[in-house]
Amino acid sequence: MVNIIFMGPPGSGKGTQSVMLASELAIPTISTGEVLRKEVEMKSEIGIRAKDFMNSGQLVPDEVVVDIIKNRIIEKDCDNGFIVDGFPRNISQAIVFDQMMESLNKTVDIVFDFAIDDEILVKRISGRFSCLKCGAIYNSHFKKTDKEGVCDTCESTEFVNRPDDNKDSVTKRLQVYHATADDLMEHYEKKNLLYSIDALKSVSSIFGRLIEIVQGLSKNNN
Ligand code: AMP
Repeated sequence: MVNIIFMGPPGSGKGTQSVMLASELAIPTISTGEVLRKEVEMKSEIGIRAKDFMNSGQLVPDEVVVDIIKNRIIEKDCDNGFIVDGFPRNISQAIVFDQMMESLNKTVDIVFDFAIDDEILVKRISGRFSCLKCGAIYNSHFKKTDKEGVCDTCESTEFVNRPDDNKDSVTKRLQVYHATADDLMEHYEKKNLLYSIDALKSVSSIFGRLIEIVQGLSKNNN
């Protein structure tokens, strides 16, 4: 069993990698950003509360995301481990998460930190779009569809941009990220859980590195 946190600025590729790793390890991935976007879409109470924070690139209040995580990690499919992507985002979320995990007799085993330059990120994020039907993620600078305007995975021709993937919001999100990331890294570094990942490498090479680290940990635990 392995519980993993994916840290990294928006656009660092952690979303793609967390989904790949979750599939390889047959464990769920919990993305607070993803859950919040669904809540906004459903116009739920949480969604209505979160929308303006999200669109302007700010963090939504801690208690909203803490509740999302608390309710999700007690579900049966998390018994064999899980990945959290985009949580915790600041030190107070990390402390609440530590307490939550301890009370459930669970441990955080690995924290991956995706390291990459801001300039590349702005380009990556502002070019990002996804398939409306299956959610596959593309990029007009780096990862186009094979056939223009047609999704490689499901052949749908409808695509969407995230409302917060514009330059102003991205710059704000990066500021917010840097304001809290150092403290978070220090928190997990002290616990010897932090692994820095060079997010400029190719998708397959990063994935190989993640697997290597997870396997190394399982070996040490046997
Ligand atoms: P993401 O998809 O992880 O980039 O998240 C998109 C947006 O959702 C962020 O800019 C925040 O507004 C909100 N969000 C996601 N996760 C958190 C979190 N752990 N704490 C506060 N806000 C979050």
